[in-house]
Amino acid sequence: MLIDNHNRTINYLRLAVTDRCNLRCNYCMPSEGINFAPNNALFTIEELSKLSSILVSQGIDKIRITGGEPFVRKDLMVLLRHLSNLEGLKDISITTNATVIGPYINELKELGIKNINVSLDAINRDTFERITRRKEYETVHANILKLITEGFNVRINFIALEGQNTQDILPILELTKDFDVCVRFLEEMPFNGGTKSFSKLKWDYKHILEHIKEGFPDYFKLESEKTSTSINYKIPGYKGTFGVIPSFSRTFCGSCNRLRISATGDVITCLYAKASSNLRDIMRGENSEEGIKAEILKAVGSRAKTGFEAQEKYKNVFSNSMTSIGG
Ligand code: SAM
Ligand code: SF4
Repeated sequence: MLIDNHNRTINYLRLAVTDRCNLRCNYCMPSEGINFAPNNALFTIEELSKLSSILVSQGIDKIRITGGEPFVRKDLMVLLRHLSNLEGLKDISITTNATVIGPYINELKELGIKNINVSLDAINRDTFERITRRKEYETVHANILKLITEGFNVRINFIALEGQNTQDILPILELTKDFDVCVRFLEEMPFNGGTKSFSKLKWDYKHILEHIKEGFPDYFKLESEKTSTSINYKIPGYKGTFGVIPSFSRTFCGSCNRLRISATGDVITCLYAKASSNLRDIMRGENSEEGIKAEILKAVGSRAKTGFEAQEKYKNVFSNSMTSIGG
């Protein structure tokens, strides 16, 4: 079992499989993209499979595959097949923009992968295209609908972006009327590859909730898991649920159970911290299994207590882009 220096059990790995993406969401990266890592700096699928096995042997029982866009990696299913056979791994989930997931939906179902988070920051086409800087609206909507009708547990991640999409907050909640989906409103974080910096946020989770109250005054709070980053609610009579994620306000750090590994092997113990080490060369060297285990123990043993503590220590962390961190 992995226990951090603040006595928190770390059982959840967020594994970025690539830093590449076919969208250019303006809150995540500049229009020209970022300095993407060279191919040989990314873990191969065999390395990602080995890394996952090692971490599961250390006590990780939930892995979320993220990126960049995981499905731009043509060999992603090889990793997912490996994970689905990994004893001790209870939950495999994926975060995707749902642009290119279509051809893989049937196999995902066969592998027993149920939990898919889809980023969708607009219900209106023009707003979607303005934010993502690409014309993939139809495909994303069709794929979300297919995922829902095929019985996946779909959660929609919607970042509330001042001056861009907040007019879509109430309309997107209508999705929860007939569909058993959860729409989660995230606070924007300043991890956008340096395009915009801010230290205050108008659309924080409290403001989002006040806004929702105007449209749906009777919504009520649901019980959430202790380690959940979202605070969850339901509108009476609606099939689905909604939530807010205070990713900038950071109200959930006390129960954080996560470890992040980037596609280039950086070990990130807090979104607001710099990478504590890199596993790629260790993976490619001798005695890699022992080396990786030791490095993970070291990282887990020196985590910041909260995102605020990490931010204080690593002041220039905001030049990062979420496409390399994985969200
Ligand atoms: N491409 C996939 C997607 O968009 O779902 C997975 C990678 S993306 C980096 C992972 C998550 O990070 C998404 O839910 C996205 O909305 C979120 N994200 C990206 N940039 C963000 C930012 N600046 N603030 C808050 N969340 C962000
Ligand atoms: Fe790509 Fe996801 Fe970043 Fe959008 S949020 S640019 S889909 S990695």
